[in-house]
Amino acid sequence: MRALTTAHMAQLFRELASTIAASRDELCRLDGVIGDADHGIAMEQGFAAASKAIDALAAEITLADQLNAAAKGFLNAVGASSGPLYATAFMRAAKTAGARTEMPLNEAPGLIVAMAEGIRSRGKAEVGEKTMVDVWTPASVAAERGMADQLPIAEIMARIREAAMSGAESTKSMIATKGRSARLGERSLGHVDPGAVSAAMVLDVMAEEWGRDGTN
Ligand code: ADP
Ligand code: MG
Repeated sequence: MRALTTAHMAQLFRELASTIAASRDELCRLDGVIGDADHGIAMEQGFAAASKAIDALAAEITLADQLNAAAKGFLNAVGASSGPLYATAFMRAAKTAGARTEMPLNEAPGLIVAMAEGIRSRGKAEVGEKTMVDVWTPASVAAERGMADQLPIAEIMARIREAAMSGAESTKSMIATKGRSARLGERSLGHVDPGAVSAAMVLDVMAEEWGRDGTN
């Protein structure tokens, strides 16, 4: 049975930090159109802090320790609304991963389900409100279906990635009703939501790491 270990989790967060850092300017530009242009900075600082917090942990740690450290690091680093949303997501994932040093890789989609639930319960946004929920929810549905149908992990991850990408694209034709861009009303139409785009990037990295044959 292939496993998701604490070494894999630390590596995942390093990948997330570097991918998001490389997309910082693009995310700021998107947020500049319908928000306050700080989303790239928030996400870059959040994931850098989360990864650093994980790397600072001692060797004898569990997946839950790592995800809780990521949550704390992210929250402390980010003043924008994405801070508490991702912090809650990581805390929920920590609960699902539990006090284990590794978990079967076929349970990894459950971490995505937990993260999506955390974001929804923290932000109270629903699908169609032009937020990151428009990416996390369809990705979570794909994860649940894939697990229920006992699909191979690579196939589940491919479906998650696909659902996330089309979810991000779907925000273009939505009018924002939650968060900062809600003030724009109909003027938010025609632009993708920055939080949805970064969510698709996060899920793309997870799908890449966890869906790879033979794993890492
Ligand atoms: P801020 O709006 O405080 O500047 P960011 O720029 O970091 O925060 O993040 C903006 C993103 O946060 C939005 O694009 C949207 O996807 C997401 N967002 C805002 N409010 C909510 C909410 N209530 N639930 C889920 N996501 C939200
Ligand atoms: Mg912003």
